[in-house]
Amino acid sequence: MNKYLQDLIKLSKFDTAISMFEPKIEKEKAKLATFVETAEAIKASINTLYLEIDDVKSKRTKNNIHLSELKTKLDNIAKKNKDVANDKELKALQLEEEIAKEQISFANEEIERLDNLTVSKDERLKELQAKLAVEEEDIKEIQVAVDNIIEEINNDRNSVYQQRSELLEKFDNKILTFYEKIKRWAKDSAVVPVKKQACYGCFMKINDKTYAEVIKAEEIVNCPHCGRILYKEDEEKEA
Ligand SMILES: [Zn+2]
Repeated sequence: MNKYLQDLIKLSKFDTAISMFEPKIEKEKAKLATFVETAEAIKASINTLYLEIDDVKSKRTKNNIHLSELKTKLDNIAKKNKDVANDKELKALQLEEEIAKEQISFANEEIERLDNLTVSKDERLKELQAKLAVEEEDIKEIQVAVDNIIEEINNDRNSVYQQRSELLEKFDNKILTFYEKIKRWAKDSAVVPVKKQACYGCFMKINDKTYAEVIKAEEIVNCPHCGRILYKEDEEKEA
């Protein structure tokens, strides 16, 4: 095989590998991000719940104050009872007492309702805190795994960069310019294999004459349709 073509194939494979590293790293980071997002959502729910619990507690305090006011009122009514002058006054006082007692029973019901609400909100809070703890534990584990994988990817990347720069040291300048010109539009498919007599860049069938030249591999052959550099992969590799 033409030496320049061999170099071009190698260079193109390095370049393809290099552009794959960043998406691989992003994919690893995305795995972690999903868990972090879930944890953030749980934290937000916990904060909302704290606010709701505070609100219930403040309502309960207000009801307690109201209740003690009503009890004072009842005491006053009891005192007034002793000084009642006539039937009319007595009836008015009894009505006042009835209303106060009714309000007391409403306030007590409301306190009971608020207490039940606090219990259920506290339970929900504990559930969420447990869930958050699990999630944070998972995040720690995934963080370690993701860091390890990213480190491996970076090691691979450094090794490929190293090999690429070694290859470029003895690379023909004209060939490199030629390659980079194609790469500008073809990106990572500047050098493509021919499979089933078709260019694997544009997927068009190539004519017999060009195909024969590709198989001979004595010269650098471009795809007659798209201009990419063509080569024939080893049969075993192709299989
Ligand atoms: Zn082509």
